[in-house]
Amino acid sequence: MRDKVLAYALQNAREHDGKAGIGPVMGKVMASIPELRSDPKAASALVREIVDQVNSMDAADQKIELDRLGEPETIKRKRKDTIDELENVPKDGIVVRFAPGPSGPLHIGHSRASILNDEYVKRYGGKFILRLEDTNPEKIDPEAYRMIPEDLSWLGVEVHETHLQSDRFERYYDIARSLIESGSGYTCTCDPEHWRERKLEGKPCPHRDDVVEDQLERWDGMFDGTFSAGEASMMVKTDLEHPNPAVRDFVGMRIKDAAHPRTGDRYRVYPLYNLAVAIDDHLMGCTHVLRGKDHLNNTFRQEFVYRHMGWGLPAFIHYGLVSIPNTILKTSIIREEMSRGNYAGWDDIRLGTLRALSGRGFMPEALRKYWYKVGIKSVDVTFSWENFNAMNKELIDDGTDRLYFVADPVELAISTDIPLSGRSPLHPDHRERGYREYEQAPHDGVVRLSVPREEIAALKVGGVVRLKDLCSVRIRTMEPLTGEREDLSVSDVRGGGGSIIQWVSSSGVPCRVLFPDGLVQEGRAEVGAKERARKGQMVQFERFGFFKLSEEDGIVGRFAHK
Ligand code: GLU
Repeated sequence: MRDKVLAYALQNAREHDGKAGIGPVMGKVMASIPELRSDPKAASALVREIVDQVNSMDAADQKIELDRLGEPETIKRKRKDTIDELENVPKDGIVVRFAPGPSGPLHIGHSRASILNDEYVKRYGGKFILRLEDTNPEKIDPEAYRMIPEDLSWLGVEVHETHLQSDRFERYYDIARSLIESGSGYTCTCDPEHWRERKLEGKPCPHRDDVVEDQLERWDGMFDGTFSAGEASMMVKTDLEHPNPAVRDFVGMRIKDAAHPRTGDRYRVYPLYNLAVAIDDHLMGCTHVLRGKDHLNNTFRQEFVYRHMGWGLPAFIHYGLVSIPNTILKTSIIREEMSRGNYAGWDDIRLGTLRALSGRGFMPEALRKYWYKVGIKSVDVTFSWENFNAMNKELIDDGTDRLYFVADPVELAISTDIPLSGRSPLHPDHRERGYREYEQAPHDGVVRLSVPREEIAALKVGGVVRLKDLCSVRIRTMEPLTGEREDLSVSDVRGGGGSIIQWVSSSGVPCRVLFPDGLVQEGRAEVGAKERARKGQMVQFERFGFFKLSEEDGIVGRFAHK
């Protein structure tokens, strides 16, 4: 590694009159030495030191040294900023996997890896593997085994193969054992804290270099009950001097005496994430591993397993992190709040689960479009609800009927001797789809309607108001709210300082609308909401927003967006 950095520095010096620059050398180093990329601080210290050294040499010595080392390869740092192409695509397609832990249903964050992997398989052909990583019995929700495939199917992700890690213990054991036998793994009975401290200092624990027989004896002891949980673990060797302490030796297997929802107490030695993933990705023939930058250190760890075993590496691609504001994603928090009765379920409107999005009328295509646009860029991003909402609106606007909704309704009694009638299009851009026809016959000379409380503040006795698509009214009293029908056009009303408000007739239906911030509003919707709720359809409550209706304890509308 040092030589590589030195070669880049010498090359840079040759191109710049014998003086290497820290910036350009650093750029080369970060682009081509992955071990240093994960630890920019160490990289920069090393580059500084070597650049100084090179700059103190004369041109002749620089040349001799570079000849000795050979020209370093120039790797251009590829900016992966479109989802356009993957590299190293085999002729017969790619094999990718999506590997969530079954701790709950999928949320917006998960949709990125699953959709992008799916897009690539659809593009290049090959196989999408769903692998449920269930080797931590404490982090399993048995329901998730069912919910995750359902969520993927909602997303339109095509799963070709499904594996459960809990079916694969024997394979992990075989490979862990061969790692021990080849000296690439060891078993350790140190106090875990002590072991960690030693490796942070770059020092081996007393067991690391024991003979294989002793290692295997302890290994067997992990299974036969000689050791209890926490007393012995199996470790994978990496490089104790690795500049990035996070990459030094890692725990491969541990003892856990917890019942597993699928395997009960059949196994007590559980593989940890990095070991199981490396083994599975290899055995399942993954050609590309696509995941977030937060897994960079895991990739370095996993690469050691590949090297120890002599396996070829898949292409690792790390996209930038995404933070998703204004919603709740953390499974453990959701579960706890659910158990306290604070969330109605995994589809509670306040949550960022795919179930919650679906319940609000978001289309899986909107997520697909969103992630496609973000792609696999390595910059970190913040999820933009604004853009996502706009993408969804574009998909649903055209097909969604309009209805009136009156929040917090107040009765308006209108004196009239003729029936009030009018109509509004189901969709302003598609009048061919028909109209909501209104016909309000007076009873004892009065028609009673509901209007939004919010609008009342702007009304005054003697003033006029227009009930949209129905009639104009001159206000007679405020409490109770009464008025008389008057023959005034929309522009007359406007000219007289009156507003145009929505209304719902006495045949309207009670409807409760829910918002993702937890707000609940009671109101009345046009009668058409009833049938649409039964069918679980979307509506646009005019000027209010898009809602997905459902029939629960009454008609409920879940807000999607404006
Ligand atoms: N189970 C891991 C996760 O959900 C998988 C990560 C990966 O290797 O892709 O973060």
